[in-house]
Amino acid sequence: MIISSRKKNEELLQALEGKGKVFLVGCGACATACRSGGEEEVFAMQEWLQSTGRDVTGWVVIDEACHIMRAGRDLRQHRAQVEEADALLVLACGAGVQSMSSSTDQRVIGALDSLFLGNIRRFGQYEEKCSLCGDCILNETAGICPVTNCAKGLLNGPCGGLEEGRCEVDREIDCAWHLIFERLKRQKRPGVFARTVPAKNWGKVRKPGRHKIKS
Ligand code: SF4
Ligand code: SF4
Repeated sequence: MIISSRKKNEELLQALEGKGKVFLVGCGACATACRSGGEEEVFAMQEWLQSTGRDVTGWVVIDEACHIMRAGRDLRQHRAQVEEADALLVLACGAGVQSMSSSTDQRVIGALDSLFLGNIRRFGQYEEKCSLCGDCILNETAGICPVTNCAKGLLNGPCGGLEEGRCEVDREIDCAWHLIFERLKRQKRPGVFARTVPAKNWGKVRKPGRHKIKS
């Protein structure tokens, strides 16, 4: 899921300058799961906005804010409140914010920073796991991503800085390539160590990304 966190009040105040009436949008998916943009956070934002002298014309938590059609449908259902507002403040990842921008000509302001694609270890503890490189080698690396988990993103590790299983960049963290080696050893297969991995073709990461499932 997309891990996000709330922007600081000062940054929000700057973005909201001159905007006295605000419509709030939350996201029922990732932003709810990492408690940056669910119902509770929308209510907390409402209270904070009111404490700054602003009016909240209304709010909605969209099931998945990144779903452009749903975003459009939900905003239409709140048309009067949306139109009354000077701006929409969106508690969702960057994709969610852009769903709103696609659905209204009103000023749209993002309230969150999108941090990374990650996993939840437990509530409040998130770990980046994939850098969306477009050319996945997890099947050869025993399910551990070196692009993301190696501090240098090496494809043919480990580097000379490995020491007692720890990474030279940060001795507090495990060396990804050590973990890959140990897990492959337990699986009794050479995996990625059977070959030299060529330099990554970052051309496969298309910007902007598009993917359409063929029917
Ligand atoms: S190899 Fe690429 S696609 Fe696979 S997990 Fe790592 S960054 Fe993500
Ligand atoms: S010690 Fe391991 S994780 Fe750290 S940079 Fe070198 S190969 Fe990557």
